[in-house]
Amino acid sequence: MIYADNAATTKISDVAFENMLPFLREEYGNASSQYSLGTKARRAIVRSRQQVAVAIGADPSEITFTSGGSEANSWVLRSIAEAYCSEAVHIITSSIEHHSVLNACHVLEQNGVEVTYLPVDSNGCVSVNDVKLAIKPTTKLVSIMFANNEIGTIQPIEEIGKLLNEKGILFHTDAVQTVGHIPIDVHGLQIDFLTASAHKFNGAKGTGILYKRSGLKLPPLVFGGEQEQGLRAGTENVAGIVALGCALEESVANITEMSEMLSDLVQITIKRLKEAIPEICINGEDTKRLPGILSVTFPYASGEAIMHLLDMKGICVSTSSACNSGKDTPSHVLLALGLTEQQAKSTIRISYGRYNTIDEAEKIIEAISSVYSKIVANI
Ligand SMILES: *Cc1c(COP(=O)(O)O)cnc(C)c1O
Repeated sequence: MIYADNAATTKISDVAFENMLPFLREEYGNASSQYSLGTKARRAIVRSRQQVAVAIGADPSEITFTSGGSEANSWVLRSIAEAYCSEAVHIITSSIEHHSVLNACHVLEQNGVEVTYLPVDSNGCVSVNDVKLAIKPTTKLVSIMFANNEIGTIQPIEEIGKLLNEKGILFHTDAVQTVGHIPIDVHGLQIDFLTASAHKFNGAKGTGILYKRSGLKLPPLVFGGEQEQGLRAGTENVAGIVALGCALEESVANITEMSEMLSDLVQITIKRLKEAIPEICINGEDTKRLPGILSVTFPYASGEAIMHLLDMKGICVSTSSACNSGKDTPSHVLLALGLTEQQAKSTIRISYGRYNTIDEAEKIIEAISSVYSKIVANI
């Protein structure tokens, strides 16, 4: 099998797996227990929080563990409205966010919050000037993803952070595709809230983080005990948290060479696919993108057909994002770039990760060329 859907999820790294195992078997104590088995679990969580803090340039007290990216995104979006419930609230976001942000915004709108969904250009970039123009006296939060999960486009986060800091408006970024993949310094970028997810950087599924700049308040997500500074009660997922810290430390230690390796795979794929099928379009081609994500639109073939035929050859790619697949609706991200419904449905996403090789990329290119010519021959 060749797995090239790393934007959907990744294989857990050996280091993360080996480190989490003891906490599922021998060291299964509750981190709130006062005997030594509990202390071991508690120390493991402290260590992971430090690893995360170092990786993103934060202080450990600014990190809260969650069940993943969706939870952290929903938490921030909902809470802002709650925290300012006595006043009119306006939120600015983009039209290409993950559904955990967009759907939270839709619910907020039903509850009287005003939301502006900024457009993107044909490369999937939000314009800093558009953010500036959208700001109103009631704007409390801007939520713009760091990099997009379908096309890989990286947003001008530094400029947006600077602008919002000057205006005194809170800034949240969904960095689920970014953390562990490109270097991030949350303080330098003037980010107030940042979300990330372990299973997107070779950690385990079901664990994520919310970074919250020190001094900012957020109502608790879960009520109960004092875990996670009373913000998210419930017995901690110690093994998952350990895996998250290890996987992130490992990813950040190898970030430069990994990024070069992934860019090479993507560049080879683009070059060879264009030679084989000159009519293809690369979405977000003319802008800064994540090193491993590649979104390709074919002129005459359904993305779903390509995906299924590749699956039969043991190759995993996706049509758009994992949360969209299975539905017949075209990707909201691709439509926002200006693609037609037809074009959006003729698109596949290849997302390389640390375990992919040049040999695999070549097999993928070959398989796509062969599958595509079969589909075209039949229409
Ligand atoms: C995967 C993903 C999420 C959701 O993270 P989970 O941990 O799976 O809930 C949110 N945002 C982006 C950009 C993603 O790629």
